[in-house]
Amino acid sequence: MKVDIKNNLERIKATLPDGVTLIAVSKYHPVEAIEAAYSAGQRHFGESKAQELRSKQQQLPHDIQWHFIGHLQSNKIKYIAPFVHLIHSIDNFKLLQEIDKQGAKANRTIPCLLQIHIAQEETKFGFTPEECLSMLQQGAWRQLHNTRIKGLMCMASNTDDTQQIAQEFKKVKELFDTIRSEFFHESNDFDILSAGMSDDYMTAIENGSTHVRIGSDIFGPR
Ligand SMILES: *Cc1c(COP(=O)(O)O)cnc(C)c1O
Repeated sequence: MKVDIKNNLERIKATLPDGVTLIAVSKYHPVEAIEAAYSAGQRHFGESKAQELRSKQQQLPHDIQWHFIGHLQSNKIKYIAPFVHLIHSIDNFKLLQEIDKQGAKANRTIPCLLQIHIAQEETKFGFTPEECLSMLQQGAWRQLHNTRIKGLMCMASNTDDTQQIAQEFKKVKELFDTIRSEFFHESNDFDILSAGMSDDYMTAIENGSTHVRIGSDIFGPR
């Protein structure tokens, strides 16, 4: 089966409201697939492995905005720190500190999202809402000048129960609003909610998502 990447992108983009950013999740797909999406005008791409991301970044046009969406190990940050546009997957404070160090080495400020664990599966990563609030209350993040906390990311449960999925996205949106008013009211820095994948992005958008991460709907199965 031949996947029509350009057609898929156009079909999806036609359903997205203004102001929602589409991240094409290209993990495990070859450079040629990304080039096809790039030719169709796509500029935001998401990857989940640091070395794979770096290798693709080196081979592809430099105006691509690369999003890191996978679980990030401290010793791999260096591969992406010089160029990554947004890291979606901060799941503990230590990781944020390590990214800050690599940001300083690369002489830049790296935008980051805090990943919230909201799904039923234990296997997924992220702060619980309580852990996230407590980390922010402790305040040490305010001393980090080479990272910037830009918002939240989440993945809903892997289920057909759309009510359940909508509930989870709602909870994260409430947490997002709380955090914004408690910790970021003096700036407009906290403005990204990254929720929604191929199977649930419309539900995510209905619940306040600003960035959707879509892989298989664009590139086909992995
Ligand atoms: C793989 C992945 C996606 C894309 O999933 P699809 O179901 O293929 O759209 C989105 N977000 C994260 C964190 C992922 O790992």
